[in-house]
Amino acid sequence: MIQTINSVFKAQQAHKYTLRNSNATQRINKLNALKSSIEQYEKEIYAALQSDLRKSEFESAITEIVFIYSEIDYAIKNLSSWMRPVKVGKTITALTAKNRIYYEPKGVCLIISPWNYPFQLMMAPLISAIAAGNCAILKPSELSSETSSIICRVIEECFDDSEVCCFEGDAALSTHLLSLPFDHIFFTGSTAVGKIVMEAAAKNLTSVTLELGGKSPTLIDETANLDIAASKIAWGKLTNAGQTCIAPDYILIPESLQQAFIEKYKAAVEKMFFTESGEINLGSYAKIINKRHYKRIEALITDAVDQGAKMPYGGKGDEATQTIMPTLLTSLPENASIMKEEIFGPILPIIPYKTLEEAISLINKMNKPLALYIFSQHKKQIQQVIKSTSAGGTCVNDVLIHISNPKLPFGGVNGSGLGSCHGQFGFKTFSHERAVVFQSSLDMSSLIYPPYEKKGWVLKWLKKLM
Ligand code: NAD
Repeated sequence: MIQTINSVFKAQQAHKYTLRNSNATQRINKLNALKSSIEQYEKEIYAALQSDLRKSEFESAITEIVFIYSEIDYAIKNLSSWMRPVKVGKTITALTAKNRIYYEPKGVCLIISPWNYPFQLMMAPLISAIAAGNCAILKPSELSSETSSIICRVIEECFDDSEVCCFEGDAALSTHLLSLPFDHIFFTGSTAVGKIVMEAAAKNLTSVTLELGGKSPTLIDETANLDIAASKIAWGKLTNAGQTCIAPDYILIPESLQQAFIEKYKAAVEKMFFTESGEINLGSYAKIINKRHYKRIEALITDAVDQGAKMPYGGKGDEATQTIMPTLLTSLPENASIMKEEIFGPILPIIPYKTLEEAISLINKMNKPLALYIFSQHKKQIQQVIKSTSAGGTCVNDVLIHISNPKLPFGGVNGSGLGSCHGQFGFKTFSHERAVVFQSSLDMSSLIYPPYEKKGWVLKWLKKLM
């Protein structure tokens, strides 16, 4: 495998110079070929997502496949204008020159993806990489093995290895890939592995985009519509059984509203995720990816309860089907592990607060989150929360939906990530913004050349103009 990887890498390094000259039509043809290949394997992709994560066809369509078709269509529609060099203004020291920004491909890129939205999170950066004129090596997650293997078949169908090539494997394979001098690495995964990726990239001075995770807070204030908040949070938390990087991780709510929220959350959960006979509906509720993660989430609940947390809802699980019931936790002790690490499961801790300032200060004590959600009708308070905190992205009176608009950048900040993806932001991520100055023959640069003793008048004139 290592030898194959090395020879593919070498072939891509040679091919990148040809790709660099590709025009919009050629890149659009590649994107269309990718779309056709996905369409050809659509049934198998749905089946793989069902097998890896028990995702229903509807959930897979909305969160993975349709999402990718629209990302491809958006890139195809806009690629010519994204590729066009951008004109920028002149400076006083080069009045006769024309100034442009060229978007040149980075070259050979490595894309490493996680298991939770295994199709979408590999394809979205790949679309941007192709649109920007790059070669790419893909390493999907070994934990969502069925989907990873379909991804590799989709790619084999429409690309030569010297342009895009997919390798299935685990951390050991990733480690070898990370030792190669790629022109860019796009990594989606945990903050811990993100640090390993950045360290490896530093050895080759390779640029990185890190799409990481973290604890995304959801702040509800006293003016919020609790019915809307409860059902949106239930949907955002329990889609993919909480295994969503931007899922609401925990709730901050005024003390006086906590009990009402609990009742409304339970009602919303049961309406969306339970059968009429009151059982969890496995047709709409994903499974936990594997036994290790199942036990990890179970241990988070046990740890919190052992330390005195209350559990007004849920808590049970079924290891055989890797299902953990939607769970609420309150009265959380400060040392509970669940408030220190990303939950990535269907458990929702509720933290009461007395003043908005107290809630903001709690958010700011943790790593800058990937998402921060606000439920409020109070315009000033909404602005106060936005301006007093930092987050990759924010929805006001909703959750998750900012990820679906390709006109918005998607990414984290510090602990939750570096750089952004989707639409033109993804195109720019996989491009180098190259400054190009075209000097005219009427150039007046010699005015600033030495000997400087005779150039006092030039300096005076420049100062006046500036
Ligand atoms: P992970 O970091 O364990 O694995 C991600 C990828 O890295 C996998 O392909 C894996 O094989 C590889 N990998 C694992 N260990 C490695 C190592 N030591 N060296 C090199 N590569 C290694 O993450 P995961 O469990 O697959 O995914 C869950 C995490 O991803 C969560 O933290 C979640 O928030 C985050 N995530 C972020 C986004 C985003 O867009 N920001 C999206 C989805 C998931």
